[in-house]
Amino acid sequence: MSEYLLPDEPVKQVYLDANATTPVLPCIVDVVCHAMQTCFGNPSSPHITGIQAKHLLEQTRQKARAVIGANNGDILFTSGATEGVQTAVVSTLINAKTHNKKNPVLLYGATEHKAVPNTLKHWNQVLEINAQVLAIPVDSNGILDLDFIAQHIDDALMICTMAVNNETGVYQDLAAIEQVIRNRNSSVSWMVDCVQALGKQQLMLSETTIDYAPFSGHKLYAPKGIGLLYIRQGSAYTAFIAGGGQESGMRSGTENLPGIAGLNKLFSLLLDKTDGTFKSSAVLAQYRSQLHNAISDTFGAITFNHDFSYSVPTTLNFAVNDLTSKEVIDLFDAAGIRVSGGSACSTGASQSFVLDAMGASQWQSENAIRLSFGPAATQQDIDHACERIRALKQVLQANCLVVSDSATPTQELCALGLTQFRHQGACSWLYVNSNNQAVIIDPIIELIPRFEKIANTQNLTIAAILDTHAHQERNSAITLLRSVLAARLVAGEVDQLGWPVNKTVINLNGQRLEKLATPGHSQDSVSYLLKEASGEVRYCFCGDLILPAGLGNTHLLGGSAEQMSDSLILLAQQLTPEAVICSGHDYQQCFAMNWAVQQQQTPLLSALLSKQITKDEFAAKKQQRDEQKQTDNNNQLCGYVNAQPDTNTQQLSYSQAKEMLSHGNVYLIDTREPYEHGANNISSLLNVATAKTLNIPLSRMANAIVEQQLDKNNQYILVCRSGNRSKLAAANLIELGYTSVYNLNGGLALGS
Ligand code: PLP
Repeated sequence: MSEYLLPDEPVKQVYLDANATTPVLPCIVDVVCHAMQTCFGNPSSPHITGIQAKHLLEQTRQKARAVIGANNGDILFTSGATEGVQTAVVSTLINAKTHNKKNPVLLYGATEHKAVPNTLKHWNQVLEINAQVLAIPVDSNGILDLDFIAQHIDDALMICTMAVNNETGVYQDLAAIEQVIRNRNSSVSWMVDCVQALGKQQLMLSETTIDYAPFSGHKLYAPKGIGLLYIRQGSAYTAFIAGGGQESGMRSGTENLPGIAGLNKLFSLLLDKTDGTFKSSAVLAQYRSQLHNAISDTFGAITFNHDFSYSVPTTLNFAVNDLTSKEVIDLFDAAGIRVSGGSACSTGASQSFVLDAMGASQWQSENAIRLSFGPAATQQDIDHACERIRALKQVLQANCLVVSDSATPTQELCALGLTQFRHQGACSWLYVNSNNQAVIIDPIIELIPRFEKIANTQNLTIAAILDTHAHQERNSAITLLRSVLAARLVAGEVDQLGWPVNKTVINLNGQRLEKLATPGHSQDSVSYLLKEASGEVRYCFCGDLILPAGLGNTHLLGGSAEQMSDSLILLAQQLTPEAVICSGHDYQQCFAMNWAVQQQQTPLLSALLSKQITKDEFAAKKQQRDEQKQTDNNNQLCGYVNAQPDTNTQQLSYSQAKEMLSHGNVYLIDTREPYEHGANNISSLLNVATAKTLNIPLSRMANAIVEQQLDKNNQYILVCRSGNRSKLAAANLIELGYTSVYNLNGGLALGS
């Protein structure tokens, strides 16, 4: 894979997650340091050091007024926007304690940052206001429904809207919102979260009737822990923090002067028309279109989750058609490009409530990628980011994540042998032999584009697409996948599970796949045994009959614990201890499990097979457990597995790992997916020969075991991004009898 490594390792990060937070600008760092070392006084002290500090404080307040257009009203320094939101909500609700509304409501935009609805709900309960907390819907562009506001504003004690959304960059028409609010309710308290607007939009707050506007320094190159709250003249106010009377008694506690000094410098930059640090909207829009082109050229088809004409230019929120956000984020991260899922706090399979509110499809919402840059980005930053994004194309192609558009693709066969594909706890399996004949077992609809790309790029002949049973928790993907791969599929009539009618065996050039009826989880459950010419079973695809370290559920339609016992005994007659068990689910992330370890970790199974209990006793116990577990936990319809066996993995620090790797039989195993492995040069990071660096992703662990890629006499140090995946893999290998296995604690994140 070395030709796919990026040249400039170790990589300098490309930071494209400015909506989560920004680095502090060097010139701001300087003034913050100055405020800590030189102008360090307490603004309340009467001496000169204190007076200097007080001057800095008041000067910053004046600059803040100019930046946000607040000639009057109060400006308070807070710890950040979340504190500003608390202050606004508490002030409003305490004032509203004596309201005389029959059906009071608290309104907030459905796409608001969680700080807003959670604060409203919290204080509504604590202060016993008992108002109904209502989300204002948005349309498909993320724009607030003004009719809804008009309908409810008479009953509202407070309305919270946001200037710019943090996930999509969508901005609201504040003048239109104001008109709807004030036409009907001149006294309702109105808070506008301005966190993501600062530096990206012109604000003239005291020309509006906005009562409260929170801001946060760390979203715009100032340090964390400093923010602002604007309060309109005459709006309700209760001090949220009482104490020494600082900030005219409105917010006690010694002021965060270093943070305030940082804001001071930030505001100077924003106000100085001759300073080029902050770019105009036109320049930022140009940057956005450059990034748009780079991601489109790299990933092919992408779907934007917002309309650029309703968004500030610094945010791009999109999904890559056919790739999950996890794949894209992992790939970016491995290549040193930091982006986030829909929102900073929701990476992975969870959905974005912002995109849900906009009516995006579940697929878009689950797979949203947010790429955001700050308004002080330079042309050079954007050029460099685009270059780094474009360099990923060859990694994507080499790993069949996109179809190569080259006439002579040079990618190696990445799917030879067995690969596990996972989607939310469910597993699909692809087996490819050296003649490019393939079988796909238990395909999942979401993975169809992936199988399609692999089959086409690797020029596979698909011998069969099989289900192990009619899955009750999801629709079968075999009919759809058969039609997508029709041109590559071996012709012939098949049954409901995809097995060729009238055939007992599928021949795979010496190897063969056999079908065995193994009811228990359901009536129609079968297991597929991949056998060598010698008759020895390599892989047993058993669907939900057996799960890693457990057995499938029998307490569902068509399930039978009695039949399960017969099926297990039947399988035991066919399997050697080394045969690898490939299940339809892997809830506890075992990745590779052979028949010997499966029995060790499933006492009920070993008791049955060693005849310590009879079939009837097995059935009674199994039935009882499944009934019990279903009442305890119904997330795992297909089976219940006890907690992960508590394997003690030996943890190494970075320097310990480096030291060990200098010895002869110590190998490094990168457990990340090949596209992540291909995106950075882990051998050079850990100073180890490429020959001693193996890439065995979790999805290929079973293959590695069967292909004997590992030697029990060698020592292995496992690594991944954060140390979590590799820890699970290390535990798995230890269970399989590899004793000298270590984990790099904290992964690459803590080492580089
Ligand atoms: N509001 C918006 C729109 C945000 O993006 C954030 C930060 O994620 C907050 C509020 C909370 O800000 P802070 O981190 O300063 O408390």
